[in-house]
Amino acid sequence: MRQSKFFMPTLKEAPSDAVAESHKLMLRGGYIRQVTAGVYSYLPLGYRVLRKAENIMEEEMEKINVPEMIMPHLLPATMWQESGRYKKYGDEMFRLSDRHGRESLLGPTHEETFTEIIAKNLKSYKQMPIALYQIQTKFRDENRPRFGLLRGREFIMLDAYSFAATREQLDEQFDDEARAFKAIFDRCGVKVHPVIADSGTMGGKNSTEFQAPAAIGEDTIATNESGTYAANLEMAKSIDTFKQEPEELKELTKVATPDCDSIEKLAAFLKVPATRIVKSILFVADDQKVLVLIRGDKQINKVKLGHVLDADEVREATAEELIEITGSAKGGVGPVDAAWADKIVADETVKNLFNVVVGANETDYQYENANLDRDFKVDEFADIRTANEGEPDPIDHEPLKFTTSIEVGHIFKLGTYYTETMGADFLDNNGKTQPVIMGSYGIGVTRMLSAVVEQHLTENGIAWPKEIAPFEVHIIQMKMNDDEQTALAEKLEKELSVSYDVLYDDRKERPGVKFNDADLLGAPIRITIGRKASEGIVEVKHPGDSEAVEVHIDDLTDFVE
Ligand code: ATP
Ligand code: MG
Ligand code: MG
Ligand code: MG
Repeated sequence: MRQSKFFMPTLKEAPSDAVAESHKLMLRGGYIRQVTAGVYSYLPLGYRVLRKAENIMEEEMEKINVPEMIMPHLLPATMWQESGRYKKYGDEMFRLSDRHGRESLLGPTHEETFTEIIAKNLKSYKQMPIALYQIQTKFRDENRPRFGLLRGREFIMLDAYSFAATREQLDEQFDDEARAFKAIFDRCGVKVHPVIADSGTMGGKNSTEFQAPAAIGEDTIATNESGTYAANLEMAKSIDTFKQEPEELKELTKVATPDCDSIEKLAAFLKVPATRIVKSILFVADDQKVLVLIRGDKQINKVKLGHVLDADEVREATAEELIEITGSAKGGVGPVDAAWADKIVADETVKNLFNVVVGANETDYQYENANLDRDFKVDEFADIRTANEGEPDPIDHEPLKFTTSIEVGHIFKLGTYYTETMGADFLDNNGKTQPVIMGSYGIGVTRMLSAVVEQHLTENGIAWPKEIAPFEVHIIQMKMNDDEQTALAEKLEKELSVSYDVLYDDRKERPGVKFNDADLLGAPIRITIGRKASEGIVEVKHPGDSEAVEVHIDDLTDFVE
């Protein structure tokens, strides 16, 4: 591609309202332009990066045998009324009505749409497990669209949905998707940490987010040095088990008194990672009374359990008051002050009346009759959210580091919520009707591009990872009226274009202008053709290198690979 013909309107300065470095650089480099709040055009440069990322995604989905398809953006409200999310989704949903007054919406995500296709077209266990995906524009009327592509109101998402006949099949599909997502992030050059997360309005278990540490992230994660530990500081939000009714909750608990004197041993006993261990204490008085105390100071989402006990009611209660409160309620859950929780846990009356359950954020992975003094030190339940930077992580006891980060992907084991509410059944191998078991998996494709830039900044621009760089090789000719330079540039352009995406800066511009633009373009290899063209010598530079090196064109292959 000739740069004289390429549309790359670069800017000296980014607009003053751009805060994130990635946003500034994408505007300055002519990758994107804002059309209205949170809505962008992708100019040729931005679109090249986008298409490369999408290609990688397509290849990795192909490898795990998940076919691509495309759903409409315009959806009927009826589908969402059926799932119960039409109201629940709230103001983030773009709603509209057609000329006949029928309510419609622009899809913010597509669980309902995929579930309906499956409900109508899948009949037997023989057709499962199966998964589908699309790469498609989503619409969310975000309260604060900002940071360029990081939080848009119109953005591109890869969303995959899996459909299984058994839990084991779901587990396998989930692991496949998680592996494919990791491969995608690797190839796109985004460093991510998988962390346990909140399930949001999607519902579901085993919700895992892929968090990319960056200077501008809206989330915060805690990690250790060697990368063996990573947690979302809002992890306690996701204690899905507590969303069960009290009766079911009781059933979930395993009665056992293992010899576990530490969180690590409990994790080993339950065969889950220590990060899954619920940093909370759950009291079960009898089938009717369940009280969950989540230790920590920060407000968390309240989780409903039958009639709910307001968190505020228990926050300051004495042991006697607590017993009285729980006596009149089926159960409740709420964040409590850590010091208060310690006091309550140590209280003799409480101990006699309540049966403490501890365990992991996973079905069947709790255990009853825990004796906190005997089995665990209360300290070990210290909520990660109340931990300070530098304190030991719960696995390898390395100092915790807090960093802001960007949620680039999110995967869920949804279970049967959508399939049951929307009637997606199948006949199992005994001829019995069962609801399909679902998973959902999303990558914020356009958000991820911003994350890549945030993680690959140079002093004056971007250093694109090879696989998603808009151009892999950038040839810059210093003097356009020098025939020898032109001859060499055209020869290299021709040869390198066989194997690489090459941009040849053939513009009649000053070298300063060309180099500034080249920094914004961020090609992994920049070849400058100047004074020594007649000797077959060019200058080669990688983004971020302070100096270019002189290379004879016969040795160029060592630098370009
Ligand atoms: P957030 O917490 O940032 O609002 P979310 O949890 O609402 O994101 P999901 O419903 O999990 O998002 O959607 C899957 C993925 O889509 C997210 O992990 C994220 O990468 C991307 N995404 C979500 N909202 C936006 C947005 N407004 N702009 C760009 N990408 C987004
Ligand atoms: Mg959101
Ligand atoms: Mg989120
Ligand atoms: Mg999410």
